[in-house]
Amino acid sequence: MSKIIVLIGAPGAGKGTQARLLEERREIPQISTGDMFREMKDADTPLARELKETMAAGKLASDDLTYQIVRDRTSREDPAKTYLLDGYPRTAVQAEQLEELAREQGREIQAIEVDVPRDELLKRLTGRRSCPVCGEIYNIYSKPPKADNVCDFHPEASLTHRADDNEESVSTRLATYDGQTKPLLEYYEKSGRLKKIGGTGELEAIYGEVEKAI
Ligand code: AMP
Repeated sequence: MSKIIVLIGAPGAGKGTQARLLEERREIPQISTGDMFREMKDADTPLARELKETMAAGKLASDDLTYQIVRDRTSREDPAKTYLLDGYPRTAVQAEQLEELAREQGREIQAIEVDVPRDELLKRLTGRRSCPVCGEIYNIYSKPPKADNVCDFHPEASLTHRADDNEESVSTRLATYDGQTKPLLEYYEKSGRLKKIGGTGELEAIYGEVEKAI
């Protein structure tokens, strides 16, 4: 049976990086709600303006809107192939909505927790930069680009710092994770669908663990 792989971890745990590696090396499509919302927020519509404010403050978009975009986007995937969700579900309601989607699509859910200590998360979030062209993620402390502030693959593009990686939004995002998303770990654990991996150390070692878990 094809699966929906769900990566759960605090902001800055490295879910996006691992998801991108899985996509490159195993051809598992990664569907990131954060990326989809970042694309949507720049349109000139009331919804986009509201989304922009929500995201800059580090708050969550509504469950129903999120479900709508996840449902729409995942319906384009090959039913015979596994795909990965990065950043979804994040609330109990979203987890229930995902059960319904998985049933409809005839897929089983496999959750993976990427665990990183809090002090490390803070360093990662404030040091995070990304390429506006290809989305490659860097960190000024732990994974700097070859040349200052430009992408290794797109030297014409200056790296950008996410608007919601400022100190205030970061603390809201971490509190939201603790309050709303962390309880989902127990939910998946109880139903025997959770694997836990450590998200610190060498990138390749972490990737090895992710591969083992799927
Ligand atoms: P991320 O890149 O996953 O940290 O997501 C960036 C922002 O997009 C979040 O802070 C939320 O504002 C929004 N977002 C992403 N995923 C979700 C979700 N599953 N539910 C609600 N809002 C989300």
